[in-house]
Amino acid sequence: MGSEQQFKSIKGTRDLLPEESTRVRSVETTIHDVMNRWGYGEIRTPAFEQTELFTRSVGEESDIVTKQMYTFSDQSGTSLTLKPELTAPVMRAYIEHDMARGGALTKLYYIDDLFRQERPQKGRLRQFRQFGAEAIGSPHPEQDAEIVALVYTILTEIGLDDITLHINSIGSDNSRNVFRHALVEFLTPHKSDLSETSQRRLQTNPLRILDSKSEEEQKLLKNAPSILDYLDDDDRAHYEDVKHFLERMNIPFAENKMMVRGLDYYTRTTFEITSPNVGAQDALCGGGRYDKLIEDLGGKQTPAVGFAAGIERIMLAMEQGDEDSDQKAPRVYVVAAGDAARNAVLKLTMDLRAEGISADFDSLRRSLKAQMREANRLSASHAVIIGEKELAAGTAQVKTLVSGEQDTWPLKEISSNLSSGQV
Ligand code: AMP
Repeated sequence: MGSEQQFKSIKGTRDLLPEESTRVRSVETTIHDVMNRWGYGEIRTPAFEQTELFTRSVGEESDIVTKQMYTFSDQSGTSLTLKPELTAPVMRAYIEHDMARGGALTKLYYIDDLFRQERPQKGRLRQFRQFGAEAIGSPHPEQDAEIVALVYTILTEIGLDDITLHINSIGSDNSRNVFRHALVEFLTPHKSDLSETSQRRLQTNPLRILDSKSEEEQKLLKNAPSILDYLDDDDRAHYEDVKHFLERMNIPFAENKMMVRGLDYYTRTTFEITSPNVGAQDALCGGGRYDKLIEDLGGKQTPAVGFAAGIERIMLAMEQGDEDSDQKAPRVYVVAAGDAARNAVLKLTMDLRAEGISADFDSLRRSLKAQMREANRLSASHAVIIGEKELAAGTAQVKTLVSGEQDTWPLKEISSNLSSGQV
């Protein structure tokens, strides 16, 4: 009879047990591999930052700042926030370490945990993991295209094929100001039909209304002016070039003129990648160009473009049909037939591990039969059995578990035979 459990994980957080961790680690290995192949260097930033870094960059009106941040005062009364996104911390580090100095172009990537107090649901957590990349220094469309191709390639190498890339341009300040005006003019007569949030945004950040999830508002927005019709010549040329480069790289995309993305700092290119396999929260990745953020944070004017993708949602998208990637360790289970063999069992286990062979043994001192059952339960490929007779002879019985074949080997040869794949 168990007593009622006293402690539970906090709502919106979760534990990763070994099987799932193994799958996540394999995804992260692919991410590191591709990033390194593409010339991106890993950056790791602290878990918390000054609150103002986020209010200033992400935007006072954004969902993140208005309702999702984990903000607290430390002992000295400084307001700190657990990082809810990574572009601002990475740019803070870029400025702080004067990373521009080494060359005009800086390419960084990260894999990290983020914190947002959202309503938890499938694919939406309060602590979640993202990977992302930032290419800092180039204003040119080939850089936008490379960033898009980078995340597209990673998702494909991870094994996701049913994904859709949506792209849009929200122009630079000039184009956006003219468009904002036209949008407000279009929406004002319908103001009373808008939600309270959208009514407020009509004053503060009308473009965000385009992101609305309300069906009624989306219906109304069908007839709204399109940002693409308001791009000035430079913005248009940039956008056309991005699309052109993507075509050249064989990256399929869909244009989505409603996609402005939730963060305030984007300029020109915005993009998202979605998967039909993850439920209502279908965005795997979001990104775009942000040419003014570094300056807004106190650095020199520096153009940049980046993306962030959610690892939990990628795992959800992968769960479809991917059942057999579970770990198969240990390969070798070393079995003691009788107490006298315990020393030899431990020593052989250590020797095998030192040779790079995954090996384990039984520390519960169970019977020979129970140990053999355990070897099968763990899907070991071999059981290596040492009893008194083997001890005396300096040998072990090596059993191949699939075929049931069993041989006597000198102890000294076991690790070299197994690592040379002789059996
Ligand atoms: P964002 O930083 O909001 O642009 O989000 C980028 C990606 O991170 C999304 O496309 C999701 O895959 C993932 N993501 C964002 N918020 C959450 C969350 N609360 N839980 C899990 N994944 C998230």
